Amino acid sequence: MKFYIEFEPCKECKTIIREISENADEIQTDEGSKRFLRHITYNHSEVVQDIVKDFPKEDFPWFR
Ligand SMILES: [Zn+2]
Repeated sequence: MKFYIEFEPCKECKTIIREISENADEIQTDEGSKRFLRHITYNHSEVVQDIVKDFPKEDFPWFR
């Protein structure tokens, strides 16, 4: 799963992004992506609207 979001990442964002980019394991990378999206949902509500436009909601039940 890939996603491209334009916003100002906080310290935790950068940590998660670094973990994703350092992780070569595909399954764990996907887990990291989900964790990142969840973090954005709760901590960067201003960008959630942009994300939900691009992602099918059935894959991300926490957006409901
Ligand atoms: Zn953040």
